[in-house]
Amino acid sequence: MFKAILLEETDGKVSAGIQELDDSRLPEHEGGVTVAVEYSTLNYKDGMILNGVGRLVRSYPHVPGVDFAGVVESSDHPDYKPGDRVVSTGWRVGEVTWGGYAQKARVKGDWLVPLPDGLTTKRAMALGTAGFTAMIAIMALEEHGLTPEQTGEGREVLVTGAAGGVGSVAVALLANLGYRVAGSTGRPETHDYLRDLGAHSIVERAELAEVSKRPLERERWVGCVDSVGGTTLAHVLAETAYKGSVAAVGLAGGNILETTVLPFLLRGVNLLGVDSVACPGPRRRAAWARLVKDLPMAKLDAMTNEAKLADLLTLGGDILKGRVRGRLVIDVNA
Ligand code: NDP
Repeated sequence: MFKAILLEETDGKVSAGIQELDDSRLPEHEGGVTVAVEYSTLNYKDGMILNGVGRLVRSYPHVPGVDFAGVVESSDHPDYKPGDRVVSTGWRVGEVTWGGYAQKARVKGDWLVPLPDGLTTKRAMALGTAGFTAMIAIMALEEHGLTPEQTGEGREVLVTGAAGGVGSVAVALLANLGYRVAGSTGRPETHDYLRDLGAHSIVERAELAEVSKRPLERERWVGCVDSVGGTTLAHVLAETAYKGSVAAVGLAGGNILETTVLPFLLRGVNLLGVDSVACPGPRRRAAWARLVKDLPMAKLDAMTNEAKLADLLTLGGDILKGRVRGRLVIDVNA
């Protein structure tokens, strides 16, 4: 038996509660691995799923939780044996198959990553999908030519939604890699937090959310990790410097993008899509290895708070309202 958050649908209405489930209810997968989960985490997408927003889940009853880290209990996969420590993010775990808001999870072994040396299961979840996504967004910017030397006075790398999960990790990573970073936030109380993570300057969320008056504005950003989308992304594109790149990660501020072709035609700006869900195995492992190497653990700890499984019944709504700062790790056994 194991404890889990179970979502059930009655007459089109989704309700969530904690239940004791029998192991036989875990999903079957070819090359499946059963994991004794230690920690999970709260991402924006989990908030959507817990609140039935966006119809991400198509089949109920359902155990949500897009991330988990723990210890292999049993395995039908050649790469994993009992006792191995593993991390799971992406592959639509917690959406189309049961996820990590449970003391046990069963997924395809191919979806797992061995816990990288130097990380505990708790810190792996302090990173989770948000941290992993921040890393692959920065890798994409670097692959399109971004270097710390390009940054300086008036030419910074921008992180939008900076006090959120993806944003906090992106700020800390970029600063540690030597970039001059600007963090955009709508929460004045997070300014000191962002400066402690390494942000050199702070931009008000409202300033970037305004529709730009001209298709091209003063070149301010040599690169950007954008978790907001909508008018913010359009505004940032108009302010991106010649040959600069914008990694489009999220849609916390809207999913409609109204822009012109001018940033692309006249400044050679690159708009890079970032998808953490189906990121192939070798790149996935490379990103985890870089997270361990490039992110100071003290900074990761400073952006991490901890909660219990039962707390998720209310916290899911908070993240959708932009009220969660940094990363929230869930101790599923507390
Ligand atoms: P968080 O809620 O932790 O962070 C989002 C941040 O965006 C908030 O903290 C807030 O930052 C800002 N924000 C919230 N609402 C608005 C709004 N209405 N207008 C402008 N800014 C807003 O979420 P995550 O960091 O987990 O995820 C961020 C986004 O990235 C989400 O859209 C998520 O779905 C997406 N995502 C995409 C992935 C991919 O593979 N492409 C993977 C992971 C996440 P502040 O308070 O600083 O202003």
